[in-house]
Parts: sequence; structure tokens; C-alpha cells
Amino acid sequence: MANILLVLNAGSSSIKFSAYDADTDDLQLVTRGQVEGLFSAPRFAAYNARGEKSGEHAWRTGDTLEHADAIAHISAYLRGLGVGHRLKAVGHRVVHGGAQFTKPVIVTEHVLNELERLTPLAPLHQPHNLKPIHIIAQRHPDVPQVACFDTAFHATQPEVASAFALPESLTRRGVRRYGFHGLSYEYVSTQLPNLPNLPDGARGRTVVAHLGNGASLCALDAGRSIATTMGFTALDGLMMGTRCGNLDPGVLLYMIDELGMNAREIEDVLYRQSGLLGVSGLSGDMRTLIASEDSRARFAIELYVYRIAREAGSMIAALRGIDTLVFTAGVGENSADTRRRVCEQLAWCGIDFDEQANVARGPRISKDTSKVGVWIVPTDEELMIARHTRNLTSVTRG
Ligand code: ADP
Repeated sequence: MANILLVLNAGSSSIKFSAYDADTDDLQLVTRGQVEGLFSAPRFAAYNARGEKSGEHAWRTGDTLEHADAIAHISAYLRGLGVGHRLKAVGHRVVHGGAQFTKPVIVTEHVLNELERLTPLAPLHQPHNLKPIHIIAQRHPDVPQVACFDTAFHATQPEVASAFALPESLTRRGVRRYGFHGLSYEYVSTQLPNLPNLPDGARGRTVVAHLGNGASLCALDAGRSIATTMGFTALDGLMMGTRCGNLDPGVLLYMIDELGMNAREIEDVLYRQSGLLGVSGLSGDMRTLIASEDSRARFAIELYVYRIAREAGSMIAALRGIDTLVFTAGVGENSADTRRRVCEQLAWCGIDFDEQANVARGPRISKDTSKVGVWIVPTDEELMIARHTRNLTSVTRG
């Protein structure tokens, strides 16, 4: 009988899940899906390994669903597939591991307490990430759980990359650059050696552009993170769907002193009203902006590309050069237009771009003669969590 390894990624209003067959060497996907709109208009959808819809359910509008109800629904769905009772381990995406958790960890009561204490560092995410851990610990106390952190992969950054130029009174309290999207970067770094026609040095100096709703860049030196654009929070660096990215801190003082805004109002502007949405006034979704003729939508995309190219320059400086550029996540994997524009603006560093390959989705989108190899590498953060969970819990064959 196969062992099932479940991966959960819980946010404030959704829980995404992926279930893997732990008896396969490469952790074959059994099903994945999500419960969305927990506190507004809850709906469930699941897909099989081929990406075909295999289950769906919508609650009445106005019904609210707690995280616990959503997990119960996911468990019932898995039981219906005949896999629920074989649940052997659960892996969780947890945004913040702080300075302490630099690797995935088996969750104990002590670990959970420590993770709760990191909530002030990620108040919008950490409590939601931890909720399913509590729920599963209560319902299935014998099932081992593993926490995997978005920050952990960046623990290899040198101090000069992670430090802010702030007084020690603040750095002592943990105010430093942690970096995020680490599970995505780690997954991509495991894929680099598998790329066909790998140019020499592809494991040398690599800049990875994770361009999803959230977006960041990471500088990988021989597969290890040495710099990244996100910092203390997931606000810094690139312009994103609804987040501003890099911002002069003086703007915050202006918002407080001159506009009389309080912390929650500023948070709303920086996290939910800025980025592609704020600049275009239209949408934070790249597909909508690409399809639009509106001049503000055009400018939002121009700024988005410009910010990526400028920040890529800083990653290249941290690496003292670049051998490989990788695009990943929703925009990086699917928007040929964004990839072309970024590469045009980065041509100075030795990119000889192959537009035909780009439109055909690569995976290599630079010419053979290009000094810098440019690739599309689809990310899979859930599989990375599943691998860590299996390694730590030794969920093996039989
Ligand atoms: P998340 O960070 O939530 O995981 P994704 O990695 O799925 O997000 O990325 C979502 C983004 O990818 C959205 O802005 C969406 O518009 C964009 N995207 C998805 N497909 C395409 C496409 N074909 N062309 C352009 N943008 C796309």
C-alpha cells in the first residue's frame, strides 16, 4: 500500500494542497488543489497529475469556512480517493524561520512555540502558515509534520548581504534581510544540473528571477544563495502584483507626517494597493495588463521590466558577473514578452537572446553563441517541501 505525503501551503484566505505517492523515487503527484475564499465565498478544486479537474465544490456565498473546515474537506477528498488513511507525513510551507531555522525541521511542541515567536517578523503570513500544523497535530498526533521555510535557503548569504546599515539596537532585535521564495530558488538550483546542453559554469554564477504575484531575484553562487532582493519582509526589491518593492523609507515618514496615515493604512497601500495594480490602476495580474491598450497598463509593465533589469544589475554585481539567467514562476514561465524585454535591457552583460526559442518556451532562450545562458525553469515549491518532508521523516518504500 502506497504512503501518501501531503504538502500544505496555507494563507490568510486559502489552503493549497499537494499529495504525493511517497513510494515513488521521484515523488509522483497524486492530486493537488486548493480551498480558496475561506472567509468570503469558499470554493474547492482539485486536479489529478495530468492537470485535469478531479473534484470541485462551492459553498453558498456568505458561508465562511475556517482553516480547520478546509482541512477537513481536503482530508475527506483524499479519503474519497482511497488515500487518506495512508497519510504518513505532512509538510508545510512556513514563511519565516528567523535566524534560528536555517533548514527544514520536524515539528515538535518546542519548535511550534519558537515559530509562533517569529510572528512579529511576518504578521500577515506566519499565523496562517502555523494554523494547519496545530490542526493536524490535534487530529493526527501520530503523523509527523515538517516545517519548510521561505527564508532558510538564504541562510548562506554573507553578513554584508543580509545587514541593514542600522544601529545595533535594531539589528539585535532581528531587523536584517532574510529573503524569501527560498523553496523556489532551492528547487531551481536542484534543476540546474539537469538542463540539457548545460553551458560551462551554469552552476557558477546564476541569477534566478522568480516572477509570480510576489517577485524577487536571487544570486546563486554554485547553487548557494549569496544575495536576494527581498529583505526583512516580502515587500522589498522588485515591483510585484500589488506590492511596491524597493521604496525610499522617507516615503513612509511622509505618509505618516504629512498624510496622517496609520500603520494599517500604510500596510494596505504597500502590500495591496501598489505594484502593477497601483501603477496601472487596472489590475495586478500581468495577463490583464498585457491584454490592455491602456497607457497606464503599458507604463506599469515598463516599470516592472525596468525594475527587474536594474535589480538584476545589483545581483550581477554581488556575483561579480553572470553565467546563467533563469526565469521562473507565473510571469517568468509564461510571459514571453516580459522575458524578451528583460533580456533586451540586460543585453549589456552578454545575453544573445533567441526570440524563436523564447516564443517556443525554451527551455533555453539564448543562442548557442551567447556568453550568458538564459533558461526557463518551471518551479515547484510543493515538490521541494515534499522532498524535505520525506528526507526528514524517512517515509520510504513499504
Ligand atoms: P503566486 O506568486 O501566487 O504563486 P504565480 O507564480 O502563479 O503566482 O504567478 C501569477 C502571475 O503570473 C500573475 O500575474 C499572472 O498574470 C501571471 N501569468 C500567468 N500566466 C501568464 C501568461 N500566460 N502571460 C503573462 N502572465 C501570466
